[in-house]
This record gives sequence, C-alpha cells and structure tokens, in this order.
Amino acid sequence: MKTALFPGSFDPVTNGHIDVIQRACLLFDKIIVTVAINSDKHTLFDIEERKELLSEVCKDIPKVKVASFEGLLIDAMKTFKTVAVIRGLRAISDFEYEFQMAMMNRTLCQDCETVFLMPAPEYSFLSSRMIKEIAMFNGDISHFVPPVVAKALKGKNLGTNLC
Ligand code: ADP
Repeated sequence: MKTALFPGSFDPVTNGHIDVIQRACLLFDKIIVTVAINSDKHTLFDIEERKELLSEVCKDIPKVKVASFEGLLIDAMKTFKTVAVIRGLRAISDFEYEFQMAMMNRTLCQDCETVFLMPAPEYSFLSSRMIKEIAMFNGDISHFVPPVVAKALKGKNLGTNLC
C-alpha cells in the first residue's frame, strides 16, 4: 500500500489541483491531501472551509483523504505514513522554489521523495491567487474551479478580503 501526501494551501482548491490529484491516483494507492496550517499566511478561506471544499470536490475519488497539518512536512509524512510528497509543477517559475523545498526535505529526512506532476496544459497557468483576483472583478471562473468553489467565492467579500 503506497500512500502519498499532497500538501498545499488550497485557498481555494482549483481544477489544477484536482488534475494533479487525479494523476497522483494513477500512481499511488492512497492520497492524503493536507491543508497546511500556517498562521503567518493570511488566507481567504479558513482551514475548515478549505478542508470542506476539498472534501466536497474529492468525494467521488475513493483514494483521497483530506486532512490538515501544522509543522514540518517530514513530520506530516511520518504521521500519515506516506512514501512520497506530491507537488504540482506548472511553469519553470514553480521549479526553483519546489526544487529547493524537495532538496531541503530530503536533507532533513533521506526517505523523503518528492514526485512532481504537470497538469493538463489548460491548467498550467492557473493559481488560487489568480482565481481570487478574477472573482473579485466578477469574472467568469467556471472553467477553472468546481461549481461549489465558485459558489463559495461568491459568498466572500473579495473586495476587502483578497489575499
Ligand atoms: P502552496 O502554498 O503550498 O504552493 P498551493 O495550494 O498554491 O499551495 O499549491 C499546492 C500545490 O499544487 C503546489 O505544488 C502547486 O505547485 C500545485 N498547483 C497549484 N496550482 C496548480 C495548477 N494549476 N496545476 C498544477 N499544480 C498546481
């Protein structure tokens, strides 16, 4: 049984994240999607809202379990007994930070492998931040997020809350 950890802010989950989750399901027996609890990072959706949205959009993907964690990724890997970390790679701009993080995690724990997955091209320019910006100006985000996420974004006062 090989379990992988897919950590992130997911503020909110987008179709790009879902694409990566589906690809990871083809490689692993179980995926723990973990919402990072980071008190320094101001988010639009609180931790419970982000977990609820993820649970809702992943409810038909049996291999996925949604959780949260605070602290070092390598500790979360031990807690959830995972063999690898999944991260999405969009453009080259993602690479430098992701490479640093993967190498640092491997230095802290030599068993920590990171698997990078590229999304379908239509999601390769998509970020949670961009979705929030488009939603703030009432743009059409229906191609980029599941309906439940679009609805949740409408319920937020994005003019004052955008982060
Ligand atoms: P973080 O703050 O940890 O980067 P995000 O929620 O922004 O959290 O992203 C979580 C993971 O999903 C990261 O590996 C990120 O590169 C990846 N990701 C985000 N958006 C996309 C996308 N459109 N396509 C593929 N991977 C993505």
